[in-house]
Amino acid sequence: MNTLLLAITAIALVVLVALVLRPVQEEDKPEQEEDARISPLLRGINYLLSDEPDLALKEMVQVARLRSEAADVYMALGEMFRSKGEIGRAVRIHQNLLARPDLPKSMHLQAHLALATDFQTGGLLDRALYQYQKALDIQSDHAGALEACLRIREQSHEWLLAEELLSRLERVRNESYSSHRAYLFSEMALQACQQNNTEEAHAYCARALELDAACAPARMVEIELALQEHDTEAAKTGIRTLWQQAREHFPLVIPLLLQYESFYNSDGNTLLRDLWLEDHDAELMLAWIENLARTRNTAEAKQLYDEMTFEPRSLRDTLRLNAVLGDNSNPHTRFARQWRKTAKNYACEQCGVEVVEVRWQCPQCHSWGTLHPKSEEKI
Ligand SMILES: [Zn+2]
Repeated sequence: MNTLLLAITAIALVVLVALVLRPVQEEDKPEQEEDARISPLLRGINYLLSDEPDLALKEMVQVARLRSEAADVYMALGEMFRSKGEIGRAVRIHQNLLARPDLPKSMHLQAHLALATDFQTGGLLDRALYQYQKALDIQSDHAGALEACLRIREQSHEWLLAEELLSRLERVRNESYSSHRAYLFSEMALQACQQNNTEEAHAYCARALELDAACAPARMVEIELALQEHDTEAAKTGIRTLWQQAREHFPLVIPLLLQYESFYNSDGNTLLRDLWLEDHDAELMLAWIENLARTRNTAEAKQLYDEMTFEPRSLRDTLRLNAVLGDNSNPHTRFARQWRKTAKNYACEQCGVEVVEVRWQCPQCHSWGTLHPKSEEKI
């Protein structure tokens, strides 16, 4: 709604300024015509002040009709339609503006950006990219357009193109985004690994880790590659490094280790036990128990729990354990299982959004590596 209010205010200001600064020859125009332009404007402002944005919008459409030559009014009107979710109308307004031969050169950039935002909001990413490119043709160092293109390339998993855009942004802003770049390379590594392009995957992992040794997803791809190649020593080194460099994300590697059964049954299992004995990390143990129950069976999870003499020390940990090992007939177990499915375990340090499953890029503010496990409420 804020955008809508801003847009209405913008229209009101544009029209007011235009009326105050109107050319001298217009002085002679009949008073009636001037009234026709001012009345809807005043009514619109009135509706705006009485918090009735829909009625205000209606009046502003009338203002735009009476001042059809004012491109600014249309720009602001387009914003209003977009913020109300009427993307089709916003697109038509901005397209009509761009088609006008009398549109001042200075407004082309603005109109292309507005149209791009309309398409992006409506999910038409190719058309949005095309319009952002048009804007960049006019001003190649427009950081907003570069950033929007970067977001779209990331959203469509076009990592190489995203990395190119990141480089351009770095130059424009004169800042270094090495941690962000490390995440892009780790995504490239994962993509190559999934396509069995081992050599490329290794190269991308190396580039990501060179930029940021604590980049957990790159380390995890490196571990997976070692497991695929039956290189036990490299896998063990990778796991230990992940433990040292990115402890909070370490539990995410456990499902991968369980997937490679012969490794898990010999070295993997022993290594996890050693790491557990180092400092009794509850997150490690809980993730291990949960994943064992999920991929094998509850009996194995129970056996591990008994062997390791693990005692949960927080409400959250007790619920997690209960969700796996609790008695089916117990209503507390049913509650714990329900809670486990919907509990938001990760929060973004940048924007504060909370999510159930970890992601490397925040779904709300799009920052990379900003989602961390939520701190626990100790009993
Ligand atoms: Zn965020």
